[in-house]
Amino acid sequence: MEGAACTTPRRNPARHCLGRVWRSAVLLLPMLLAAAIATSGCDRSEVRFPLRTPQGRQPNVLLISIDTLRPDHLGAYGYGTPTSPIIDRLSASGVRVATCVASAPETAPAMASLLTGMYQYRTRVVANRGTLQAYVSTIAERLQESGYTTAGFIGNTLLGADRGFDQGFEHFEAFRHKNPLAPSDDRGVTLAAAWIAAAPATPWFVWIHLIDPHGPYISAKPSWSDGFTYPADAFGADTPIPPGVGNFGLGIVPKYQQFLGEPARPSDFVRRYDGEIRFADAQLERLLGAIDPADTMVVLTADHGESLTEHDEYFQHGWFLYDTTLTVPLLLSWPGVLPSDTVLERQVSAVDVAPTIYEIVGVAPEAEDATPVDGKSFARALFRPDTPMSGTAFAVGPRENHPFAVRAGRWKLIHTPAGRPAVPTKNYPMHGFDTPERFELYDTIADPGETTNLADRHPERVAELKTALGGFRTKLRMSGRNW
Ligand SMILES: [Zn+2]
Repeated sequence: MEGAACTTPRRNPARHCLGRVWRSAVLLLPMLLAAAIATSGCDRSEVRFPLRTPQGRQPNVLLISIDTLRPDHLGAYGYGTPTSPIIDRLSASGVRVATCVASAPETAPAMASLLTGMYQYRTRVVANRGTLQAYVSTIAERLQESGYTTAGFIGNTLLGADRGFDQGFEHFEAFRHKNPLAPSDDRGVTLAAAWIAAAPATPWFVWIHLIDPHGPYISAKPSWSDGFTYPADAFGADTPIPPGVGNFGLGIVPKYQQFLGEPARPSDFVRRYDGEIRFADAQLERLLGAIDPADTMVVLTADHGESLTEHDEYFQHGWFLYDTTLTVPLLLSWPGVLPSDTVLERQVSAVDVAPTIYEIVGVAPEAEDATPVDGKSFARALFRPDTPMSGTAFAVGPRENHPFAVRAGRWKLIHTPAGRPAVPTKNYPMHGFDTPERFELYDTIADPGETTNLADRHPERVAELKTALGGFRTKLRMSGRNW
């Protein structure tokens, strides 16, 4: 049978004791298992969708996106510093997707793809200045059409109503503090938890977007990182990084992160970044305490990651398409119905999240006569976590000459077209010089840091991935943009 009683080939390394919320789910286990048997049958191959609550209803869906959250800085993904006890507990109660790839290393295009299941050539949101068009269908719209009550609590103004991200929400509010440097995730969680407690009807869909891990890393008090220790060699020489004259550039601390005084070392920034994660994580305890786990599927992810020291890019995102800024955490938890304490090794794209939610709750992936989605549901793979790593994910850089990336299996190809550089070097202005076309091939398993370009050594692999990337670029060009 499927559900919590399923055996799982690989256990989550960050297993923790079940908390109050999940303990209550365990007490409900016999009832939940009966429901799972009724809906799913007793054979792994016979799991039937949609999945239903013990009362046979569609589940509530709580989508949590956390801005600028690197998966490898969470205990659930193997991080040694205790940044995320609440997220780790959520992971232990559900399925952790090992590799989820954002469509862009920047907020608006990445969230547009996640909320629609579409890449940029359909959403038309290519950079933060973009607006989500009315003709695309979002998770909120599709679930609302299916009878869901919907509410959004958004901590980033780039995802506001004026940018079209309120589509499908009956209740939608931004909770950014008037002072953008002050913490706001506590306020957002308070609003969302209060709405859930008094939800006008069920099932409901709630999207909450937390912001505090985004730089500058001063939302949380330094005390949130008290007691954090790091291996002696975690930061190499830990040489102080010089300040830059603007917000962008390689080898420098961008202006908006210059809050520590100078000189500041990478370890100083990473400790503060980890404290921001711990603060956001702590807020989630109240949010998860407000839901009924038997009736609610929780999906936790991020818009993009953050480059902390890698590739000479310090405490920024939005430039390169390396995994530091492109991979995001992805957890799905519904105790008693979805498998628990399980790792799905398969690679997915953020565009696959919406179709997966649709299949689980029983909503058609697209409205009639609507723009089709790019993503594919991986709902069935949740019950087969030993599914071989597969799937192809694409990404587009939001800056100037738009670098492209394709990640297929263990291989990743990044294509930086000739022209203006994707990133200004040191303090040189962006428009000062051109760079030649460049291809980078990485083996993401043998070289997760993407430090050794294998393009010359594997021309056949480059050719294969170039073909895939070429098809993707053709679609982008057909969308009318000058790519
Ligand atoms: Zn963001």
